[in-house]
Amino acid sequence: MKVNLLDFDRAGLERLFASIGEKPFRSRQVLHWIHQRGAADFDAMTDIAKSLRARLAQSAEIRVPPVVGDSIAADATRKWLIQVDGANAVEAVFIPETGRGTLCVSSQAGCVLDCAFCSTGKQGFNRNLSTAEIIGQLWMADRALGRRQGAVRPITNVVLMGMGEPLLNLDAVLPALRLMLDDDAYGLSRRRVTVSTSGVVPEMDRLARECPVALAVSLHAADDALRDRLVPVNRKYPVRELLAACRRYLERAPRDFITFEYVMLDGVNDSPADARALLRVAARVRCKFNLIPFNPFPGSGFQRSSAERIRSFAEVLQRAGLTVTTRKTRGEAIDAACGQLAGDVADRTRRTAGRPRRAAIPIVEVNA
Ligand code: SAH
Ligand code: SF4
Repeated sequence: MKVNLLDFDRAGLERLFASIGEKPFRSRQVLHWIHQRGAADFDAMTDIAKSLRARLAQSAEIRVPPVVGDSIAADATRKWLIQVDGANAVEAVFIPETGRGTLCVSSQAGCVLDCAFCSTGKQGFNRNLSTAEIIGQLWMADRALGRRQGAVRPITNVVLMGMGEPLLNLDAVLPALRLMLDDDAYGLSRRRVTVSTSGVVPEMDRLARECPVALAVSLHAADDALRDRLVPVNRKYPVRELLAACRRYLERAPRDFITFEYVMLDGVNDSPADARALLRVAARVRCKFNLIPFNPFPGSGFQRSSAERIRSFAEVLQRAGLTVTTRKTRGEAIDAACGQLAGDVADRTRRTAGRPRRAAIPIVEVNA
């Protein structure tokens, strides 16, 4: 099988080109063509000698995973369903706002960590996405959104908050992050690329060492008893260790705060006492809070906290001088349609390629 050039960051391409006796600067040209100009074949690469293009075409290709669903909500939030193999589909979501546009990207099909309130977790783990399948979501969305509108690019921020736990797939995630940051590819600043983790402590250290970007941590509870239940990886890396890892991360991070995500579950973690427990967290780690109203799904056993309860919760934090954002109810119409969309794809492909797993991710917003 031909190698997929979407799998390589700059260093990887340089190694690849060296192995076929080509000059390293070719990698810069090729990166530029693929990621800035959106080239999907070698014929487009007009400043590269025909002979080299022919040689590349013999052993390499640019293989983007196909889009099998595309829906746009009234508020312009857009979701794509991307088929990564016969049995798996993942989602990418674009959230336009004034002055910025955020693409939410998936890193795994399913997830092994099984958080109590997460529909991806309930699917179980299926497999890691490759670098090509991760960066392919950005490549595709960049192209679908028109890449450049004048000097403005529609995608200004990327968050790894889609399906899966990015820190359990760092081997593939790191080259994808490097491409997001590379000036010859997407050229995003480290502050505008956010990885979200449920708290895989050793991999937080690795991310800090190898490619520090903005970090969001899915906290959801400040004490171990409750967090053990909601986020089972807490049994391995309890809150104390997680907060210590956050502090270490901040020594290398491009931002001077961690974003703590906190899903609002009615009667579970949304009392004023729960909010006060977060003040103790904030005393130990410089942070901002992003409250996410729970996104219900059948059989979850949880309910969304009322707007009133979320407001009182946020007030406890704000009165202590903390920055709190609450996820706006954006894209809800296609949140609902999203399940149906996955269903449609399943129906269409069952006859040919097997049944893709249901893809359903919540839309979250981070401070940027
Ligand atoms: N695995 C990573 C990133 C993907 S999940 C992580 O857990 O951080 C992105 C965010 O959505 C996380 O904060 C996650 O806890 C939250 N989330 C998961 N299921 C949700 C649901 N049903 N409603 C609201 N937020 C949810
Ligand atoms: Fe995995 Fe994140 Fe879902 Fe937990 S919330 S199961 S870590 S995707």
